[in-house]
Amino acid sequence: MDVEVGDVAQQAYTGALPQWSEVESLVEAAHRRCKAETAGVVADYIPVLAEADPDWFAVCVAEADGSVHTAGDIDVEFSIQSISKAFVYALVCEAHGHDVVARRIGVNNTGLPFNSVIAIELNDGHPMNPMVNAGAIATTALVPGDTRDEQWNSIVFGLSEFAGRTLEVDHAVYRSESETNQRNRAIARLLESYGRIDPDPLTVVDVYTRQCALRVTARDLAVMGATLAHGGVNPVTGRRVVSAGVCRDTLAILAANGAYERSGEWLFDIGLPGKSGVAGGLVTVAPGKAGIGTFSPPLDAAGNSVRGQRATAYLSRVLGLNIFASQAHTPFAQRKDHP
Ligand code: GLU
Repeated sequence: MDVEVGDVAQQAYTGALPQWSEVESLVEAAHRRCKAETAGVVADYIPVLAEADPDWFAVCVAEADGSVHTAGDIDVEFSIQSISKAFVYALVCEAHGHDVVARRIGVNNTGLPFNSVIAIELNDGHPMNPMVNAGAIATTALVPGDTRDEQWNSIVFGLSEFAGRTLEVDHAVYRSESETNQRNRAIARLLESYGRIDPDPLTVVDVYTRQCALRVTARDLAVMGATLAHGGVNPVTGRRVVSAGVCRDTLAILAANGAYERSGEWLFDIGLPGKSGVAGGLVTVAPGKAGIGTFSPPLDAAGNSVRGQRATAYLSRVLGLNIFASQAHTPFAQRKDHP
């Protein structure tokens, strides 16, 4: 029997989310089950991050239809840090296209820590991928704008559109990181020496440092993730931020590189593209379905939030989100209610 393309797409899609009320109680369950986890260490290489309360813990699921489910410390703001890399990358892909960005920034995992200098040397100065600092700095260098202010405005505007509200800089974090980011400045200089970035390297690092200091909540992260899940349209504001093709490219990058050198284990355990940041944020995307945002400062040795990973793994399992599953997840009744 001939199969229409539309039917193929439907068959490939592994089910729908459970009912609204079930998602609501599963988000609460994820928070309850992972709250007692005590493993991990709060980052202190950016001095002000060490002041975070290790007990802070928030979980949020934003569905592709705009429904939002929250549990825990959902109003606590923290710096977005490396999670900004995913969304700045999407903006740069939107501006320059798939091929230019793939060639200049790359897509492959380095297998080395996020701020590795050796990775640059081993790869002939190539930044490798946009989720490590070399690639992120090279990506920020490509943000549209002729001046530092124009580039900065593009980033704040773009990331705010992803979040559906105006994001602001945490000045204490920006100052603290600016005073201690010698390594990122060295990475930018090294890229310059290989001819891999065009603008002034220290100006690029300054913009990159500010983008990492943007304040978000777990809810913001979930909505930002849901925008990538929803083909580039923010499901809460209804506004298009980037194209569906850019979302697809960004999610592929996250699947390969989003959890630092633990990206393989992350994909194996959770089966979804995601990105973590050293302040304890974590965004995960279930294409076509939802974004998950979590926040909990204690990190594993690679820099991923321990409670965030546990809560996300739980939600991926109970909501049937793993993108490698070939059959719909059916432990729940099909979705009926929708307030
Ligand atoms: N601003 C941080 C840095 O470049 C981001 C690190 C991270 O979250 O992985 O060191």
